[in-house]
Amino acid sequence: MEDKTAIDLGLNLKQRIKQVLGSSLHIRHVDAGSCNGCDFEMMALCNPIYDIQRFGVDFVASPRHADMLMVTGGVTRNLEIALKKTYSAAAAPKMVVAVGSCACGGGVVGQSYANMGGVDKIVPVYVYVPGCPPRPSALIEGIMLALDRLESYSNREVAATRE
Ligand code: SF4
Repeated sequence: MEDKTAIDLGLNLKQRIKQVLGSSLHIRHVDAGSCNGCDFEMMALCNPIYDIQRFGVDFVASPRHADMLMVTGGVTRNLEIALKKTYSAAAAPKMVVAVGSCACGGGVVGQSYANMGGVDKIVPVYVYVPGCPPRPSALIEGIMLALDRLESYSNREVAATRE
């Protein structure tokens, strides 16, 4: 049996993607040192309950093909350079969603000689989705919030060109 809440969320997401991006949303997942809990929840977006691909979302292998980076983990020192390179390779608008408490601010790992203490210490973040780990439905809400942000930034840019 299908989960009605998941379908309703997905339909809202599909509508927002169409309104803001026109067709589809491509996401690159970046594991910057998570315990894998957040990654499993993110991958659950593709399971038969959420089946997010039917709503116009795909996970891609290259940041060059991505509209959005979803980053898990508090950014270990060993992955700091990888995250910077991935961000610089990503296509505009470079929407970054920090997934999970570690990515949002260090979480249970905190900040130390080995861990930076959050994604925004390294790259700009559009949206923070807390939780240890956050549920897939919270991730969908986070993606929609990032689309809202993108839309409001775009509207501001258009308004500025008219001034
Ligand atoms: S927020 Fe929790 S589940 Fe996610 S990477 Fe950190 S410890 Fe793991």
